[in-house]
Amino acid sequence: MVVLYLGLLCLASSATASGPVPVTRSGLAGIGFNFYDPYCAHGCFRSFSGFTLPCSTIISAGGHTTADEAAYHLAKCRASDFPFLSSIAWCIHLYCPEDVRASKIENFWETGITGDVTILPKWSYGEMMANITQPPTMVAMTEEMRGGKVLNMTMLTTYNNWKATQDTLVYFFRETAQESYYGLSICLTAFALPIVLTWLGYLPFMTSALERIKPWLYPSVIGTYHDRPLPFSLGNAPTVGQSFYIAIMVILNIVFLAVGYKTLWPDQIMQWYTNRYQELMAYFMWRTGVLAFCNMPVLFLFSSRNNILLWLTNWSHSTYMLLHRWIARLFLIQTLLHSILALVLYQNTGSYGESLKKQWWIWGCVATVAAVIIVLASVLILRQRAYELFLITHIVMAVICVVGCWYHIYIGYENTFGYETWLYATIAVWFFDRVARVARILKTGLRRSKVTEVGSNILRVDIEGIRWRMPGHHVYVYFPTLSPFRPWENHPFSMIPTTMLTGHRYSDQAGLELDDIEKNAVTVGSNSVTNGKIYTNSGLTLFIRNHTGMTGSLKSHNGLLTLLEGPYPNNPTKAVLQSDRLLLIGGGIGITGLLPFLRCHANFKLFYSVKGGDLCLVETLSAVLNEVQEKDISVGRRLDIHALLREEAGVGWSKIAVVVCGPATMCDDVRAAVALVGKEEAGSCSFELEVDAFSW
Ligand SMILES: Cc1cc2nc3c(=O)[nH]c(=O)nc-3n(C[C@H](O)[C@H](O)[C@H](O)COP(=O)(O)OP(=O)(O)OC[C@H]3O[C@@H](n4cnc5c(N)ncnc54)[C@H](O)[C@@H]3O)c2cc1C
Repeated sequence: MVVLYLGLLCLASSATASGPVPVTRSGLAGIGFNFYDPYCAHGCFRSFSGFTLPCSTIISAGGHTTADEAAYHLAKCRASDFPFLSSIAWCIHLYCPEDVRASKIENFWETGITGDVTILPKWSYGEMMANITQPPTMVAMTEEMRGGKVLNMTMLTTYNNWKATQDTLVYFFRETAQESYYGLSICLTAFALPIVLTWLGYLPFMTSALERIKPWLYPSVIGTYHDRPLPFSLGNAPTVGQSFYIAIMVILNIVFLAVGYKTLWPDQIMQWYTNRYQELMAYFMWRTGVLAFCNMPVLFLFSSRNNILLWLTNWSHSTYMLLHRWIARLFLIQTLLHSILALVLYQNTGSYGESLKKQWWIWGCVATVAAVIIVLASVLILRQRAYELFLITHIVMAVICVVGCWYHIYIGYENTFGYETWLYATIAVWFFDRVARVARILKTGLRRSKVTEVGSNILRVDIEGIRWRMPGHHVYVYFPTLSPFRPWENHPFSMIPTTMLTGHRYSDQAGLELDDIEKNAVTVGSNSVTNGKIYTNSGLTLFIRNHTGMTGSLKSHNGLLTLLEGPYPNNPTKAVLQSDRLLLIGGGIGITGLLPFLRCHANFKLFYSVKGGDLCLVETLSAVLNEVQEKDISVGRRLDIHALLREEAGVGWSKIAVVVCGPATMCDDVRAAVALVGKEEAGSCSFELEVDAFSW
């Protein structure tokens, strides 16, 4: 995959190397640069750039070129075309206000006058003015010249024509800058809101306020559906807390699409369009394009495993995955609006037929279609039934979408308007994630794991030498030889330190009394040797339930090639571990997510319910489960979650943390119960909830 990305990046950068090189700037228009500085000079340049020159038959009415060979030749032609350069110079002399500094004009002259920053004009602006011996008298008439007349002498442009050209640029830039401000606001809000909300919790007096609010944020917005899919597999409903974030993002996208427009009409008609309708439609069309772009970095960040927000906030990975899907919907709506508005506008201006043949249009269509496929192919039913197909379609289409966007703006604007900054940010986020994934795998290296069947559909996987002891974390496991045609396939699993499964702490290892250990153990360096066996704290164990995919082909093995990518945070654990009482509620294979918590809290109780078919799990884990002093293990019986929570709250703990890991129904029941009991007990007992439903 990394190779694929690198290839695409090379492809994109090779396009940069051909054709003319316009003035490229970094940043966003209006934030860092103004691409029509000074407006008056650009107004002059554009007043003459639409005419045919003796040395070129190409007409480029727009200031920017079009990234192709022909545009390069046009720039070469302009560089030494006296009538072209002298007409612009005279126009600048006539119309640029005195407060525009000469250095600014010279800078524009050197970098922008030919349309290619690498091709300098033969004369500087000063030299050009010195070479104009006779002030021009003939006015270049736009319509007449468009009829094929060549600009073959120094000519004038009328004040009105220059003013209309300049104001068109002023209004266009104004709108482009607005797009930057609004786009940046959306992007920063999406990124910073989780940080701000998390860090608010550190302010004085916030702890008790948050504790009161949390039971209102935990429930789902649709009944008790959250981890359970909505009827007809429509998707997963957000919680109240998550829906606040979603609402803010939706509102920001709508508001920034709706406000801040200013048209040249009625003072003037924008030069590129013939009426106000077209001018407004163009603004809308550009705005939707930029708002789609500004959602992209966050869209990619939220889906990434190495999401910096996972470390900076107390939001879970599954929350970011849910928000990723909502941002994707906003991105798709903005993208579709952009495409539809462009279609309607170009039909109205009569340029639709011509646009269809343009490369930037074709690449825009490619990106739009890819975005539609991504969202359609991400429906829950496909993710449940064919996860790998969903994943590969998702990645391939995402690459096509980004490449499509890149060419759309590169061929259309040659990186002169700053739109590419959003794409750079997106690619950086993605690239970082992919590189970090590879780095994590390399860090743990090639491993051999021992796979043992512990029941008809549950396997135990032991990997030696790994020292990860982190509750609330998971690891992605690759078994490349299991699926040789898809060696990259990997799946997330909860991690259990192997030593935990012996059921004994080191001090009472092998069931010896302390006295016995003293008698039997000799110290070798920092290791202790008990009965000839060196104690080790390392080793990682996974319990995996067979499904139909990769886990279905997992069989007993003594040295299965294994790669590990992790550990990754799943749920934040700080608040959970700081509680007075920790309730670990699990069902079936979900015990794997709970075991790492056992030795991290002094006052916990385990509630574990399994179906008869999973009894093998209870037996396999008997050593560690026997060690748990407070537990309620039920086989073939559902836990009464409301009752157990009320009972615990009745004891008088001031803060109870609940970690649930199990089937989606159980997770949703616990969520609803914690929210209800939390509201009932508000003021006397607060609840902290972490849910690990093994899905996102
Ligand atoms: C944080 C986390 C921890 C987990 N811990 C465990 C564990 O300790 N033990 C255990 O048995 N299972 C665990 N799971 C579930 C496990 O990842 C899936 O059962 C496994 O990926 C199924 O692989 P498969 O190819 O056999 O699945 P398939 O038969 O293709 O699909 C079975 C189900 O698993 C889902 N799934 C498939 N691949 C993935 C993936 N890469 N990421 C997320 N969901 C996927 C599918 O949507 C489907 O609903 C965990 C899941 C998560 C998200």
